[in-house]
Amino acid sequence: MQAPSPVLFIGHGSPLNALPDGAMAPQWAAIGRALAKPSAVLVVSAHWETDGVAVTAMAQPRTIHDFRGFPQALFDMRYPAPGSPELAARVADLLAPTKVRADHDWGLDHGAWSVLAHLAPRADIPVVQLSLDRGLDLTAHADLARRLDPLRDEGVLIIGSGDVVHNLRAIDPHGPSRGFDWAVRFNDHVKDRVAAGDLDALVHYRSHPDAALAAPDFEHYAPLIYIAALRRSTDRTVVLTDEIQYGSISMTSFAFCS
Ligand code: ZN
Repeated sequence: MQAPSPVLFIGHGSPLNALPDGAMAPQWAAIGRALAKPSAVLVVSAHWETDGVAVTAMAQPRTIHDFRGFPQALFDMRYPAPGSPELAARVADLLAPTKVRADHDWGLDHGAWSVLAHLAPRADIPVVQLSLDRGLDLTAHADLARRLDPLRDEGVLIIGSGDVVHNLRAIDPHGPSRGFDWAVRFNDHVKDRVAAGDLDALVHYRSHPDAALAAPDFEHYAPLIYIAALRRSTDRTVVLTDEIQYGSISMTSFAFCS
């Protein structure tokens, strides 16, 4: 029997990381090389929030350049992976009785393609995005995530793409190279709770004294909950990348795998 697919949380950081010479390029490419080729990829990205749950259901998703003020080279990038209406339908089935809208307007936002451009540069694996329902709390998001568990036995790679620490207002290119103290403390706390499989503490992250500064943006933290909720008791935790950019953006990534 085939081993279950791993689940990945990737800290995607700045769109600049998408560039071929982006700061994370070598590490993200190495992650991609270490993975068995999945049948499809399902991405929960911080950059797609909706009212209600939606899943991309088009055969050929467009590349969305959902950012401003970046170099033209980023706007010129395309990630032409196919979609998978079949996987979209399967996701909707698994999430029932929650109603899931089959979306034909979105595509792949940079939370998905900036990472996949390195992890799967051939763009030959179908990619589907699952939105973040902004009306749900993290307990409800974790409940949705658990229902996706069978996909791990169907060859589907599930990726949560956000940032454990994400405070755009505090960004400082000249800040401490290891990150601001509050960013390091919160990042270390999350890594510790991830390693312990402590989903409850991760869901209730706002009780941490540094959470208001480190994770003020719900949508960048929420993809982490999808991955943490998909951890199986038999999984081991692997920290894939672990650094903080611009003082306040965590690039920490990890995998749960058998
Ligand atoms: Zn982002």
